[in-house]
Amino acid sequence: MKYSAQKGTKDILPADIFRWHKAEKVFSDVCHSFGYEEIRIPTFEQTELFARGVGDTTDVVTKEMYTFNDKGGRSITLRPEGTAGVVRSYIENGMASLPSPVRMYYNITSFRYENVQKGRMREFHQFGLESFGSTGPVIDAEIISVADVFFKKIGLKNIKLRINSIGCPACRNKYNEMLKDYFRPHVSSMCEDCQARFEKNPLRMIDCKIDGGKEVVQNAPRLIDHLCDDCKAHFEGLKSRLDAVGIKYTIDPNIVRGLDYYTRTVFEFVSENVGTQGTICGGGRYDGLVENCGGAPTPGIGFAMGVERLLMEAEAQGVLFEKNDSVRIYFAGMSEAASQKIAAICYDLRLKGIGCETDLMGRSFKAQMKYAGKSGIPYLSVIGDDELKSGEVRIKCMADGSEETVKIDAIGEYLTDK
Ligand code: ATP
Ligand code: MG
Repeated sequence: MKYSAQKGTKDILPADIFRWHKAEKVFSDVCHSFGYEEIRIPTFEQTELFARGVGDTTDVVTKEMYTFNDKGGRSITLRPEGTAGVVRSYIENGMASLPSPVRMYYNITSFRYENVQKGRMREFHQFGLESFGSTGPVIDAEIISVADVFFKKIGLKNIKLRINSIGCPACRNKYNEMLKDYFRPHVSSMCEDCQARFEKNPLRMIDCKIDGGKEVVQNAPRLIDHLCDDCKAHFEGLKSRLDAVGIKYTIDPNIVRGLDYYTRTVFEFVSENVGTQGTICGGGRYDGLVENCGGAPTPGIGFAMGVERLLMEAEAQGVLFEKNDSVRIYFAGMSEAASQKIAAICYDLRLKGIGCETDLMGRSFKAQMKYAGKSGIPYLSVIGDDELKSGEVRIKCMADGSEETVKIDAIGEYLTDK
């Protein structure tokens, strides 16, 4: 039997992991610099949380969830995104009593039963953050700048920010009625999903992947033109804050975002390179969500970023990630006694935090030298009977071939200074 990774899942191999480590480090550093702390939430939750928290007219909930009954008969779902779990935790742990805004970031795997294609997997990774307690628009602009600073620190260029406002429930209800009147004569010629959306949530017809390009959708009335005064002022406030820090954006009235719980600010960071899966990061305000999930009415805003798409974009742009080689020196042993001494030296160096390697395969001296040459480890030291007697070793710098004599006890210091 030959096993293979499940469709839509992927191994991240040791040879590639440095790119992930780099992205994770930059993301957490940037979040910390804005005052966010990490939260780790469980991989699965009760299904009901996602139905409520993501929205039961969304594709994610109606088509894409990994749902099963556990042995205790509970309906369990592997998280398709992070927000619902973070909201559940915020409520359950009484975080409303902490000083506002409560700011958290996360680095998670998410699971969606998707049609697998480039940038679209069934298990994928998301960096995200959520902020609770502020109505904005100052925080709206700030979380957008978290993503913007992150892209800059990673070294990505030309990631385009698109923003929109989808108003509050009051302006949206009015708009949904307007949309119904508009779409009524056309609905029978639209896709099956749109026919269902027409009844339940006409707003979602605007970002339909099937009908979205059709003239009838393109010419539909735009919510951004029908916002109430408060929502209009909120959107103006967001724009002026983005202008103040020099973050460029375009207004895209067609962004309504996939998830039902958004209010007012919605935004996406899009690249041209990842093809049709160009949205690297999406987010927005969700003022009704905490209450909808059983908490006190609490404004909130967040975003989530697809890490696979981010790394694909970095590769397409030729962004170089430096590889931090932890192993600094290879010791080749010429005898059993030497190899015993090397084991003790290595033990001591590792306690000092200095990475080192020696033979683990019983290789001949010649084979050890060959391995060292191929390994890319920057320093090499050969230990035989002479070195054991003198207590000194020669350390060779592989890059330029130069050699220096160093006391065995001083190897750690010598390498630290390099
Ligand atoms: P899309 O419109 O591409 O399906 P979405 O609106 O469903 O995206 P969100 O729920 O907003 O996506 O998730 C945030 C980000 O997570 C996306 O912008 C994307 O970068 C990433 N993402 C979403 N689904 C997948 C997936 N199946 N595989 C890889 N990355 C994904
Ligand atoms: Mg999707």
